[in-house]
Amino acid sequence: MIGRRGFLTQAALAAAFPLFTLQTSPFREIRRGVGIFVGPGGAIGWLSVRGEALVVDSQFPATARGVLDELTRRSKIGSKIERLVLINSHHHADHTAGNGVFRPVARQIVQHERCADAHRRMVAAASPPLDTAMADTTFTDRWSTDIGDERVTAMFHGSAHTGGDAIVIFERANVIHLGDLVFNGVPPFVDRASGASIRSWIAVLETILRDHADAAFIFGHGARDAVTGARADVARFRDYLSAALEHVQRGIAAGRSEAEIVALNALPGFAEYGDVVKNYPSAFPQFSLAHVLTAAYQELTTA
Ligand SMILES: [Zn+2]
Repeated sequence: MIGRRGFLTQAALAAAFPLFTLQTSPFREIRRGVGIFVGPGGAIGWLSVRGEALVVDSQFPATARGVLDELTRRSKIGSKIERLVLINSHHHADHTAGNGVFRPVARQIVQHERCADAHRRMVAAASPPLDTAMADTTFTDRWSTDIGDERVTAMFHGSAHTGGDAIVIFERANVIHLGDLVFNGVPPFVDRASGASIRSWIAVLETILRDHADAAFIFGHGARDAVTGARADVARFRDYLSAALEHVQRGIAAGRSEAEIVALNALPGFAEYGDVVKNYPSAFPQFSLAHVLTAAYQELTTA
């Protein structure tokens, strides 16, 4: 799924995300009108109130259409939502390829400024062309809006899975969409070409755990579609990243080669991350412990 230019192409992603059987309804509310849609690609977060809606990420056109139709039905004002806002957590195509479906009804499409840059580069390099819609609103540190009686804030805490990951906080519901800052029980994709940093990623998760200890979290991806969770799940993923980084640091200090360091079957203590095909049959067979360790090695050995 990593194209020759290092980008995730829409065609490659569509092939990598076949529709799969869900254990529960793909469209479900968490609390206070905030919910998720689980499908191929990153989990979509949504807020639905009378006449208005806010969406976090857009997956692919077919599922974006289904989410828009369902939010329109829930808005209870007829065939069109009065005000809809779309926020992209980051630029990857499994989170933005459905943007074009929302464009005709979206009052705003919001991205962090580094996400917008990466999205533009991805679209410019894509072959075949990507049918997506770009941001019309960007932010540096934070951006907020009110939807009904809910306050929604997008925040940037630093490089992590990419160089431009935003989290989206539904403040009164106390629900936070973390985008791909957590792969729940799955080895993550570390997009160094787009500015990812495992060290910074760990620090970002520390900040989130400090500031939002009692929130309900939405994750972009999870083993067996476990894309919601709590503080313990975020901490567990932080510990996985830390263990991977420490393994590589110890290997470098001991004078071992990159090939020796990344040749590890499982991180001790993290057995549930060990078998990506078992944990996440729908996608990401190439996102393995070896990928994470290679990214950590490059990060630790590149100035
Ligand atoms: Zn991603």
